[in-house]
Amino acid sequence: MYTPGVFLDALTGNRRGAYSGGVTGLTVGWDHDVELLLDFLNTRHVLDSEASWRAWVTERGLGRSSELAQARAARAALRSSIEGSSGPQTAAGVVHIELTDGVPVLSSSDALGAVLAASARLAVLGSWERFKICPADDCLRAFFDRSRNRSRTWCSMQVCGNREKARTFRKRTRDLQNSTLATV
Ligand SMILES: [Zn+2]
Repeated sequence: MYTPGVFLDALTGNRRGAYSGGVTGLTVGWDHDVELLLDFLNTRHVLDSEASWRAWVTERGLGRSSELAQARAARAALRSSIEGSSGPQTAAGVVHIELTDGVPVLSSSDALGAVLAASARLAVLGSWERFKICPADDCLRAFFDRSRNRSRTWCSMQVCGNREKARTFRKRTRDLQNSTLATV
């Protein structure tokens, strides 16, 4: 018989109780997936060279390093999916299903597989829509929106949000000055 709870347990590594609280029940496993995915989405210069990509993978204990080109393609696809842009939407990597304590769980033997397995778990848990890309041109960082109604726009209100507010204010003042000059 299909039981959503069991299905979730299977996908999320049978962390019974750990994931069952969803967004409100933040746990080590869930947080780890969020952090891993954010880290990967924000690896701009890491993917510039084979050496820095390998170092990134080793630092996080993600097993074998996947091909750099494949990692770049997956990152581009995941980012355009989050942005809702028309960019590539297919990320290819190897994810295994293993039986752990008699329960099937997602696992991986390389770095990209680990990232994609984390993405799949987060999507199944309804957390995908909480991943966003900061719209500030000079930022474009991926962040996770933990607000109750998913209303965050900027990665940081203190930095990018305030900068945008200041920009809008300057523009409004300039427009006002221009229109005053035009009427003189
Ligand atoms: Zn930002």
